[in-house]
Amino acid sequence: MLLAAARSPAARRAVVAAPLGWPLVRRFIAGEDREDALRVVDQLIVRGLHASVDHLGEDTADEARADAVRDEYCALLARLDAAGTAGRAEVSVKLSALGSGLGTGGPRAALGRARAVCEAAAAAGTAVTLDMEGHGTTDDTLAAAAALRVDFPATGVVLQSCLRRTEADCRELLREGSRVRLVKGAYAEPPGIAFQDKAEVDRCYVRCLRLLMEGHGYPMVATHDPRLIAVAGALAVRAGRPQRSYEFQMLYGIRSEEQRRLAAAGETVRVYVPYGDDWYGYFMRRLAERPANLAFFLRSLGHR
Ligand SMILES: Cc1cc2nc3c(=O)[nH]c(=O)nc-3n(C[C@H](O)[C@H](O)[C@H](O)COP(=O)(O)OP(=O)(O)OC[C@H]3O[C@@H](n4cnc5c(N)ncnc54)[C@H](O)[C@@H]3O)c2cc1C
Repeated sequence: MLLAAARSPAARRAVVAAPLGWPLVRRFIAGEDREDALRVVDQLIVRGLHASVDHLGEDTADEARADAVRDEYCALLARLDAAGTAGRAEVSVKLSALGSGLGTGGPRAALGRARAVCEAAAAAGTAVTLDMEGHGTTDDTLAAAAALRVDFPATGVVLQSCLRRTEADCRELLREGSRVRLVKGAYAEPPGIAFQDKAEVDRCYVRCLRLLMEGHGYPMVATHDPRLIAVAGALAVRAGRPQRSYEFQMLYGIRSEEQRRLAAAGETVRVYVPYGDDWYGYFMRRLAERPANLAFFLRSLGHR
C-alpha cells in the first residue's frame, strides 16, 4: 500500500500537510538544498564515515528538468571538490531522474547526461554509482553502467537480491575494478521476476555476497540487516579480503550507531545522503520498510 502511495499525488499532499511529517522526513533526508547535503557530508566525514550523495528525484517528466538534474550533480561535485571532501564522497544517480523514461530516445539522452556527471566526478577525483530502480529498468541500467565504465572505470552499479536474475547478473560483474552495490531491493516486484519471501531475498543476498567477495571487484554491502552485515564480514575473511577491499553502506538516518561501530572497527562505511525537494517517493519507501516508522508517522497525522 505504501509503495503504491509513493506514486500518489493525493497521498503526497497528506504527508506534506502533516504537522510532524517534516521532522520525520528530515530523519532520512539531509534537507532540500545542496548546502544541507554538504553540511551532512562534513559531519559524516568528521565521524570517520564516507558518503554517497543522492539528489532526490525520479521519473523526470521533461528534458529541461533532466538537464537541471545533470547540472545540479555537476555543481554538487564542484562544491565537494572545492571543499576537499570529494575523496570521501561519491554521488548516486538514478537514470530516470536524468530522463531515461522520456520516450524512445530517453535512455540514450540519459546516458549522455550520466556521462557529463561522470566527467564532473572524475574531475573532482571521485565516482558515480548508478542506483537501480524497478525491474523494467534493470537491463538499461546495467547497459548504461557498462558503457560508462569504458571511459570511467570506477562507475558503480546496484544489484537487487529480490530479483531472480541477480545471481546471474552478479557473475557478470566479478572482474577487477567492478564496483557493485548489493541491496535487497526497495520496489514492489511481481512474483515471476522477484522472490516474495523475505527469507528467499536474504538467501539470494548471501549467495550474491559470496560471489562478490570471492570475485575480483569491489563489493559494496548495502544493508542495515545485522545478520547480513555479520555474514559479509565472515565471507570477507574467508575470501582473504583486507578491510579496504570492500565497504559497507547504509542510508542516512538508519542505524547510525552501527555505522560508527563498523567504522571504529576499521571498516569503510559509506552513508547514502539524499537531499532535494523531490523527497516524497524516497521517503515512502523508507516508511514501507519498517512498521515502526509508519506507526510514528500515522501518530503524527493524528496530531493534525
Ligand atoms: C546505501 C544504500 C543504497 C541503496 N540503493 C538502492 C537502490 O539503488 N535500489 C533499490 O532498490 N534499493 C536501494 N536501497 C534500499 C534497499 O534495497 C532496501 O530497501 C533497504 O536497504 C532496506 O533493506 P535492508 O537490507 O536494510 O534490510 P531490512 O530487512 O529491510 O532491514 C534490516 C534492519 O535494518 C533496519 N532498517 C531497515 N530499513 C529501515 C528503515 N527504513 N528505518 C529504520 N530502520 C530500518 C531495521 O533494524 C531492520 O530490522 C539502498 C540501500 C542502501 C543502504
